[in-house]
Amino acid sequence: MLDDARRALQATFGFAAFRGVQETVVGRVLRGQSSLAVMPTGAGKSLTYQLPAVMRPGTCVVVSPLIALMHDQLRSATANGIRAAALTSVDTNRAETIARLRDGDLDLLYVAPERASQPQFHDLLANAPISLFAIDEAHCVSEWGHDFRPDYRLLRPLLDGLPHVPRLALTATADGHTRADILMQLGIPDDGLIVAGFDRPNIRYHITPRDNPAQQLRRLLADHPGPGIVYAQTRAQVERLTETLATTGRAVRPYHAGLDADVRAAHQAAFVASEDMVMVATIAFGMGIDKPDVRFVAHAGLPKSIEAYYQETGRAGRDGDPAVAVMLWGAEDFARARLRLNEMEEARLPGERARLNALAGLVETAGCRRALLRRHFGEDAPATCGNCDNCLSPPNVTDTTELARKLLSAIYRTGQS
Ligand code: ADP
Ligand code: MG
Repeated sequence: MLDDARRALQATFGFAAFRGVQETVVGRVLRGQSSLAVMPTGAGKSLTYQLPAVMRPGTCVVVSPLIALMHDQLRSATANGIRAAALTSVDTNRAETIARLRDGDLDLLYVAPERASQPQFHDLLANAPISLFAIDEAHCVSEWGHDFRPDYRLLRPLLDGLPHVPRLALTATADGHTRADILMQLGIPDDGLIVAGFDRPNIRYHITPRDNPAQQLRRLLADHPGPGIVYAQTRAQVERLTETLATTGRAVRPYHAGLDADVRAAHQAAFVASEDMVMVATIAFGMGIDKPDVRFVAHAGLPKSIEAYYQETGRAGRDGDPAVAVMLWGAEDFARARLRLNEMEEARLPGERARLNALAGLVETAGCRRALLRRHFGEDAPATCGNCDNCLSPPNVTDTTELARKLLSAIYRTGQS
């Protein structure tokens, strides 16, 4: 069976071998077993459902949270000769897609969770040969995840309506709580959990207080001539930093949801093609972008969570060459995050508090950043990595500024959890 899979891998994608746990995941799908695959960004999650979709008769239904993501996937699948379509508000060939689905003439059907959870869609699938349910960005199903989407919660009846169709949930980032929740919500057995390694050894982590961000970022650009991403927290900050960093002479483009879709698309295309461009962006930028040679990812402020930090920094160095991840943080970031907690519904507070405290732990540790990150995701890790700021120049913990810094962040830790 896996020989067939290897042949199909070569024939459809032109790849010589599976990477990491891909083989395990594909093997399970082909045996009809349901799984949750937790694989880092860039590990090749799409292939784990696209390949079985090609190999098995019938259609693999892919639930995906963003139309833009779906269309990216659709383009690359079609380019590989895979028969794929999407059912969304912007796809006008609806009747044709439905006919192809019924005739078993589609390998992949992409659909948003809002549509997938509607009874009409259930009816549609009842009369079509379905081979697999793939639930992409599956952390969206969990309130513990960093990007909860209520519509993901409504998928269960669709899955249960076709109990013999295997389920494959996919995510890059899910801590223990989130994993357990995904398994439960989607009805996947506990032994279906497959976790790939989280270490990104070629990324050097550097986390430092923000004293003069313009100067700190200019310095970063000067030291790193290759393509890079600077994450800012607001649209206004994106615009300001774009102007500031353009004075270095580097090509710098802004990206945020306030820009017209065609402007965003143009900036994204320019960045993907460029060998030296800096994209200053809100977190709206990056999901699903395939650019292997990003040399640095900078956070101009505190990210939302360790999961978000890992996912965003994970866009650096996908080609395996050295890359850096720099986070500039300020005590006011923690203060603002804490204020946001006050506006949150009661049910979400424990999760959000734990998230913020984990982030504070990462920021203030005098130990290895990589070890902390890997352990956060449930992996064993050696105490030192030799490729993060704290391992390369161990902080002097009796140093008074260091002490002040730790006290300051301790103040902004929240709750007791
Ligand atoms: P993810 O969704 O896990 O972030 P993708 O599915 O977008 O990752 O894949 C990332 C990149 O890795 C894509 O360019 C894909 O073509 C490539 N890739 C996936 N599997 C393999 C493989 N077995 N060998 C070589 N390249 C692969
Ligand atoms: Mg993906």
